[in-house]
Amino acid sequence: MALHIPTLLVVSVFIFFLMSLLTFHAWRQETRERPLAYLGGMMLLAAAGMLLVSLRDLGMDFVPKVLGNLVLLLSAGLNWTAMRVFAGRPPHAPGMLAGAGIWLTLCMVPAFYQSMTVRVSVYSLLVAGYGLLIMLEFWRSRRQLEVAYMPALALTLLHTVFYSVRAVIDQGLAMDQVFKGYGAGVPLFSLMLFESMLYVIGIAYVTLCMVKERVELRLKAAAFCDALTGIGNRRAFMVHGERMLLECQRRGAPLALLLCDLDHFKRLNDTFGHQTGDQALIAFSRVLSENLRDKDVFARIGGEEFACLLESTDEQSAVRVAERIRQAFARLPLLEPGLLSVSIGVVTSETQGYDLPRLLSLADEALYGAKDRGRNRVQTAARNVLELQPG
Ligand code: GH3
Ligand code: MG
Ligand code: MG
Repeated sequence: MALHIPTLLVVSVFIFFLMSLLTFHAWRQETRERPLAYLGGMMLLAAAGMLLVSLRDLGMDFVPKVLGNLVLLLSAGLNWTAMRVFAGRPPHAPGMLAGAGIWLTLCMVPAFYQSMTVRVSVYSLLVAGYGLLIMLEFWRSRRQLEVAYMPALALTLLHTVFYSVRAVIDQGLAMDQVFKGYGAGVPLFSLMLFESMLYVIGIAYVTLCMVKERVELRLKAAAFCDALTGIGNRRAFMVHGERMLLECQRRGAPLALLLCDLDHFKRLNDTFGHQTGDQALIAFSRVLSENLRDKDVFARIGGEEFACLLESTDEQSAVRVAERIRQAFARLPLLEPGLLSVSIGVVTSETQGYDLPRLLSLADEALYGAKDRGRNRVQTAARNVLELQPG
């Protein structure tokens, strides 16, 4: 089958241009996602570069040979930058311009400028080099990426392999073959155009998917996070708590719930100001983080109310942990001794089962018992365990 190369060139320019408009549109919708801006730029330059390399035999040799390939290599540099920025690293201008710079320098050498085979090989190697850099970025950041990056990695691997092979086997496409539609260079040149179109469409799609996935993850994290203290909120506690309860019930492991309420917090706000109150809330969150294990679930479930679920913990250990938290908070140097205190209600699955709303309500009763008895103390659902003095 004879392929009409000029038609393929027009189609590829059209597709690159269209994909660039669509990518810029997606970028405007998700304006904080800079990778989409770089990717849109990459496609726009791909369209411009392809247009320039098509202008052969018009008496302006340097336009397709020098300018066209230079713009295409800038486009490859932008592709790398898009993926690098997505992986969380800053753009690297020298690296981005390196491909184009090498090209411009080599074009000054007459032997290079006049040999189509050498030009095709060097151009292909430079494109493959940017492909390798993209794969390196993904690999280096694989633990922080949090999104499905494998399709992008696979696509880039194919692109890189294609250009590596092309660097070795492609002799270039002589001008007479362009219009005849057949000859030694035609199949490879057509394949190269198809591959470029598929790569551009593919990378735009998978990048958009990755960006959307990351935006969703961020929104989800924000919906589960308490803005003031940075720890989980009530929603996070209910979701993660229910999960932990099911898991402990399945294993038959004991579990403890600590419900903490800062004492006389309204008075503290009124006396020292809301900002000091906020600092106390942040400080208490830190006390919880420091005194609980990574596997425990804890959250700020109300104004000055915090809940903690301790996995594989019986009543005795839970009371010990609660007491440690109470003392650590009372010792904080934020205010005069005696001004910061917390009451904690403790309940365990051993005596009360694995129903979260029931456990919360029983812990609340225990908490009110602690408040009634003078605050700054730990009390279990069944009985007052510790009658301790402030400090
Ligand atoms: P008790 O010892 O009985 O628990 O008394 P309390 O004053 O701690 O309890 P109360 O429920 O009367 O008041 C809770 C106060 O917590 C009222 C509210 O203004 C304050 N509060 C709630 N959320 C925040 C917050 O985000 N920042 C600050 N600074 N204060 C808050
Ligand atoms: Mg309260
Ligand atoms: Mg309170």
